[in-house]
Amino acid sequence: MLIELTNQIKVVRPEVQSVFPYSNSLYIDDEVSAMIDAGAGGNAYAKLPVQDIDLLFISHHHFDHINGISFFNNARKIAGREEAWAFQDEDLYIKSTGYQRWEDLMGKPKRKDEDEFTELPADVPANYGYIPMQLAGEFKDGDIFNMGQTSLTAVHTPGHSPGHYSFFFPRESILFSADIDASPRGPWYGEEFCDLDAFIDSIHKLIALKPQILVSSHTRVFDSGVEDLLLAYLDIALQREEKILRFLREPHDVNDIADQNFIDEWKQDKPHILFWHKMMILKHLQRLEKHGQVIKINNDRYIKI
Ligand SMILES: [Zn+2]
Repeated sequence: MLIELTNQIKVVRPEVQSVFPYSNSLYIDDEVSAMIDAGAGGNAYAKLPVQDIDLLFISHHHFDHINGISFFNNARKIAGREEAWAFQDEDLYIKSTGYQRWEDLMGKPKRKDEDEFTELPADVPANYGYIPMQLAGEFKDGDIFNMGQTSLTAVHTPGHSPGHYSFFFPRESILFSADIDASPRGPWYGEEFCDLDAFIDSIHKLIALKPQILVSSHTRVFDSGVEDLLLAYLDIALQREEKILRFLREPHDVNDIADQNFIDEWKQDKPHILFWHKMMILKHLQRLEKHGQVIKINNDRYIKI
């Protein structure tokens, strides 16, 4: 489905829900034609001139944003300079998943297929795992792209991943916020290189742009109340942290905390969801330790100071 926000800026929604392995794309139908992200699925792209797209912006390297790159054969593919490694360095990509912590956190070795957490639909042309890609270029925070009638600014918004980018169209006050997605499941930071402090700063950075219209990778388009929406989304993470901190008046380890289901939005018991749940707890513990609110004591337990 195509949602025309202006004559040039159009949201490409997957044929089914815009949840993993799909994500929304943004089509810029201008003198220079561009697509932001490639995860809307073959059925959604079938009605668009994808072979003629000049430029493919990649918000970040996660599978649900890049699994359709093969639809954009003729496009110059560009990504944030902080994340170019994700397409060129398989070892670093594997490290970024955090799976080296799997046995520690889950109590048994990871089965090879345990990251293949849902069967892929027929219009998703890639397989799980590392997807190497030759980038035509890299962008950095503040880079401006003039497309013809419209222009967009790359906004570095790390936290969800180190090279996560949002894109802002100042003239139209439209923000594509990628996986700062204002969803009721709250922020996700379940990988090795996720950083909760950076995530919080990035949300404030987006609010400061005062966007009128918010398009994210996994929700509907919002055309009012964007600031409140982003603050409520951030608050989900802060409330998780408050609950963890309160629980740490007595010493506990990651598994004890996970049993409490404070990260209620990600509590499904599929192995990879539980793994992410525990990784997100680790991110809170790292942040609380950094800010001097907890210390680590014996047997990997933490206690509130
Ligand atoms: Zn993501």
